[in-house]
Amino acid sequence: MVGPTATVAPLRAFVSDFTRLIDRNPEEAVILEEGRALLAHLIADDGWLPEACAQPHPQYYQQYLLHCDPLERFSVVSFVWGPGQKTPIHNHTVWGLIGVLRGAEASLRFRRAASGALEPVGEAEVLHQGEIDAVSPAIGDIHEVSNHEPARTSVSIHVYGANIGAVARKVFDPATGTPKPFVSGYSSAVPPNLWDRSAETRAALGS
Ligand code: FE
Repeated sequence: MVGPTATVAPLRAFVSDFTRLIDRNPEEAVILEEGRALLAHLIADDGWLPEACAQPHPQYYQQYLLHCDPLERFSVVSFVWGPGQKTPIHNHTVWGLIGVLRGAEASLRFRRAASGALEPVGEAEVLHQGEIDAVSPAIGDIHEVSNHEPARTSVSIHVYGANIGAVARKVFDPATGTPKPFVSGYSSAVPPNLWDRSAETRAALGS
């Protein structure tokens, strides 16, 4: 049985599992640990991401909403990076998990120096396919992310502890550290349909 809804089944299972995790109302450290395992399982397979949510833009990195929890306790987003594309230095204000599905991306973390300027924390960390990073105000929330593949598209799957596209965040001037308000939004008007399970039902009925 192969149909248009068969491929999104791993994402639907991930959303269900993540909802069960969030329903327990655990501490952030537990979300990051157990959520990391769920995300690792999701990105171990690369057959489920709808094509529409994997399209790069010639100029800008793309952020496609895959799912938002109805209570906005978490959201799942595919980030699609064309060659040379990068974010400004930005924060999140909530926990986030970042897993690479295709290609590789680099994350450079920043902290605020006594002078008020932002300074890099070590070297940029490169995440390859299957690897996961975490951010949050508690563990380090400011970074800059870029596509580490010089000539091809990379895709990463992000999970955040809010409806991230609508969160009031900040981007920072790299020279001065001066913050500027930032609301990322989403690149797509509609999320993928995870819920058409009619083919399974028909198959079970033998019709
Ligand atoms: Fe980020």
